[in-house]
Amino acid sequence: MSIDTQILPPDAAGIAAAAALLRAGQLVAFPTETVYGLGGDALNPAAVAAIFAAKGRPADDPLIVHLADAADLPRVAAAVPPAVQELAAAFWPGPLTLVLERGPAVPLAVTAGGSTVAVRVPAHPVARALIAAAGTPIAAPSANRFGHTSPTTAAHVLADLGGRIAAVIDGGPTPIGVESTVLDLTRPTPTVLRPGGVSLEELQAHVGEVAVESRGAGAQPLRSPGLLERHYAPHSPLWLVIGPEGAAQAWLRERAATERAAGRQVGLLVPDEDAALLADLGADIEPLGPSAALDSVARRLYAALRALDSRRPDCILARDLGERGLARAIRDRLSRAAAGRVVVLNSG
Ligand code: AMP
Ligand code: MG
Repeated sequence: MSIDTQILPPDAAGIAAAAALLRAGQLVAFPTETVYGLGGDALNPAAVAAIFAAKGRPADDPLIVHLADAADLPRVAAAVPPAVQELAAAFWPGPLTLVLERGPAVPLAVTAGGSTVAVRVPAHPVARALIAAAGTPIAAPSANRFGHTSPTTAAHVLADLGGRIAAVIDGGPTPIGVESTVLDLTRPTPTVLRPGGVSLEELQAHVGEVAVESRGAGAQPLRSPGLLERHYAPHSPLWLVIGPEGAAQAWLRERAATERAAGRQVGLLVPDEDAALLADLGADIEPLGPSAALDSVARRLYAALRALDSRRPDCILARDLGERGLARAIRDRLSRAAAGRVVVLNSG
């Protein structure tokens, strides 16, 4: 079944139309500062079920609930202790999602049956205006089919969900480009379940001790299904090389040259320095900006990955940029896209 997906402008009329659709239980994709979200009324079980259906998302993968203002927290959380208020004051509106005890009004489908709820106040003006106009908390996972790369433009949303949702507000490319940081505050030590737009360093400056959930660790049940190894998977196999810059660039050159010599197409998802260095190889290069400008690398990452992947190279080669600031989230997304094809070079 296909419906006509409206493309709405990010102005007052477009936001009012989108808010009316949300109140009627329909789904609307909208820009946030991280990626586009697929919104539905978080307190309406039918709308929540429609989100899972449109994305093809498994029911055990909980949704993030978006609020227009931290003052609305009591609508979705069982309690708002002072520590939560402090974090909200420091980072909201912004790309930080807090995992709290679930309030009784939140349908269990939102939390995948769990006792906790993930909540965020986005900073994007269109997102905030839309949620305020809808007058209800909005559940909004990334607006892509399950397992695909998250959308950073309205065109990406339409490629995945056109015909499956009522509307998308086209607010242009999203400014951060990777998803929010998910911080679990229901554990004895605040724990990052997913690195994202707020860096570990920024959190540590406010919270003190912060634990980081290691991926695929042991027999623990999945705390955050976003931690699944294969989650942002391109069609072409992606290899991620981690190591000192010079050694990693040499590895890229060697590997790309070998592939080219065998007549295969190679995609390179690399910073500008590497693009210049490897320009002679006949590879398909999507430069991500200078490696020192991590914000621009993050902003371009998903669009570049989608563009490369759409040309179906035999392989995509990417270089890791470390763990500092946004680089941690970039490494996380690239290593998931690599689905285990990660090469770690010694620093010796
Ligand atoms: P998405 O919005 O599709 O980018 O994904 C939302 C992320 O938040 C996923 O990694 C979820 O597993 C995570 N998440 C949502 N709710 C919870 C929760 N209650 N506890 C832990 N993680 C959550
Ligand atoms: Mg997602």
